[in-house]
Amino acid sequence: MSMDCQRFLSIPILAVILLLGFVYYATVFIFINDWVGLQTSAGFLNALIFTSLVCLFLFSFSIAVLTDPGHVPSSFIPDVEDTVSSDQELQKTSSQVSQCDKCSAYKPPRTHHCKVCRRCVLRMDHHCLWINNCVGHWNYKAFFLLVLFGTTGSIYSTVMLISSGFHKDWDFGERVPLKIFYVCCGAMMVLLSLTLGTLLGWHVYLIIHNMTTIEEYELHGWLGNLGRVIDIHLMLESTKTLPWYWVQTC
Ligand SMILES: [Zn+2]
Ligand SMILES: [Zn+2]
Repeated sequence: MSMDCQRFLSIPILAVILLLGFVYYATVFIFINDWVGLQTSAGFLNALIFTSLVCLFLFSFSIAVLTDPGHVPSSFIPDVEDTVSSDQELQKTSSQVSQCDKCSAYKPPRTHHCKVCRRCVLRMDHHCLWINNCVGHWNYKAFFLLVLFGTTGSIYSTVMLISSGFHKDWDFGERVPLKIFYVCCGAMMVLLSLTLGTLLGWHVYLIIHNMTTIEEYELHGWLGNLGRVIDIHLMLESTKTLPWYWVQTC
């Protein structure tokens, strides 16, 4: 197995794949099948659209996991003289060109050091537990698309579940376990859609303002904090990296 593929061997990634498999099976073989049947053209079309969304999600997910988020070339030396034409710009440029204490190397503007990856990442957004990789310059697009397809797929699955639930004849007593299954799945899908939808909204806001999560946090602490709170995987990440941070600072 190549080094890159070993990135998939992490519990959060396996959890994402398991959850995706469960949601796919339930949506196609339970909700759509119970609602209109997979043999009908409406059932087939809905199953086809949902399968395409799942494939697009898996493709973006794999790219986000496997792509190098962006490393600083070891030969990088800031070219201050070329870019400077006035004193004001010199001040600006010299404040942008900084050095990383841990890597003992120059950092281009918008680069941050990731404690988990133990290296500097170009235009780092955050380290994402769910893709076992940093979100940076080279995989931001894949990360954004995976959030977009994830949100669309979750909402689609929720609509299929609700349509199927309303269509079903619930009058039989023996259907109680199925009722419980529908209610639990419904609660899970609504929660998933809201979480991914909020994360999508946050990244649309960041793209419009040409910012990263880290920069937003540094510029407007409270708004960045809000971003961190809605970015549920950042919350999990901060609890996960806390012991690591202690090791590093001690
Ligand atoms: Zn560094
Ligand atoms: Zn990282």
